[in-house]
Amino acid sequence: MIETEPLVAAAGLVKHFPVRRGLFGRVSGLVRAVDGVDVRIAAGETLGVVGESGCGKSTLGRMVLRLIEPTAGSIVFDGQDIGTLGAGALRAQRRAMQIIFQDPYSSLNPRMTVGQTLAEPLRLHGLHRGREGERVTELLHTVGLAPEHALRYPHEFSGGQRQRIGIARALAVEPKLIVCDEAVSALDVSVQAQVVNLLQDLQRRFGLAYIFIAHDLAVVKHIATRVAVMYLGRIVETADKEALFANPRHPYTQALLAAIPRPEPSARRERPVLGGDVPSPLNPPPGCHFHTRCPHAQPVCSQTAPLLEGTGDGHFAACHFWREIQSHAATEQPIAFAPARRRLERLQSAFVASDPVPTP
Ligand code: SF4
Repeated sequence: MIETEPLVAAAGLVKHFPVRRGLFGRVSGLVRAVDGVDVRIAAGETLGVVGESGCGKSTLGRMVLRLIEPTAGSIVFDGQDIGTLGAGALRAQRRAMQIIFQDPYSSLNPRMTVGQTLAEPLRLHGLHRGREGERVTELLHTVGLAPEHALRYPHEFSGGQRQRIGIARALAVEPKLIVCDEAVSALDVSVQAQVVNLLQDLQRRFGLAYIFIAHDLAVVKHIATRVAVMYLGRIVETADKEALFANPRHPYTQALLAAIPRPEPSARRERPVLGGDVPSPLNPPPGCHFHTRCPHAQPVCSQTAPLLEGTGDGHFAACHFWREIQSHAATEQPIAFAPARRRLERLQSAFVASDPVPTP
């Protein structure tokens, strides 16, 4: 459950990357990577952020750390508005916010031993002065590596071990939040499970909060407390993990869940697996961005962006017809679009809602 004062409270986050063309680099368009997203994360909680490639989830994670400057929106971390911090204050605050990348090898200096790699952030932040070696041994032990590994170079390790080194490096400065950006996506399934178990163990021991970014809902299911599903820069559904997996409301979430491989061959697919590609964020479809792939799309979906609507239980979905679609799934009766369409027409006549409405 969210605490009154969350560790992270980001509101109205937007990131538009200009596309430049021609000799003079004139801006010819905008890539709408993140388009009006709110995020709240409590201490010790894991928010799983899922979606296909290009949905903006990595950009969102990096914006929360201010590794990427937002085009608009605010980020409060541990009670401090980090959008207003100067370079020095931001560096000090960054100690509490770390990131683990998908490819740990590219984030490790191949010319530095693991010991030097782990001692570097200690020196930068003036931590454990005079006993850096002890701290490095402690960190290696914490992530399941041996003290002698401190003398080896990154290329001498397997992918899973390198990811453990990346985790140890993040832990070195005793953070409160770690963004795990596709941190297990490149690993074999058995190694993925080991790294996820390690992350969960560290969370219990140190009270860490994670933003766990992945394109695979099956992985997120094991680690997340809450899940946010993103599509073309917007959150289309967010809920506690149990509610989202048991009772997905948005057709996109339903399709992602249907795509999870099932061990039993006789398992019946009750929902259609998603087809087609994600449209370009340079020119996203109007209205509901998902309407070009949605099996339930109605004419109104291409005209009006749905609100991220909640039901008072922390479960929010951005779909005009989620109630009707759910009722259809439960009763197998044809979907009754007409009442919802009339409700929308009344709304449309009250205001033009072609822009996304800020998430709750
Ligand atoms: Fe599908 Fe329309 Fe709902 Fe979008 S608003 S998810 S297009 S039914």
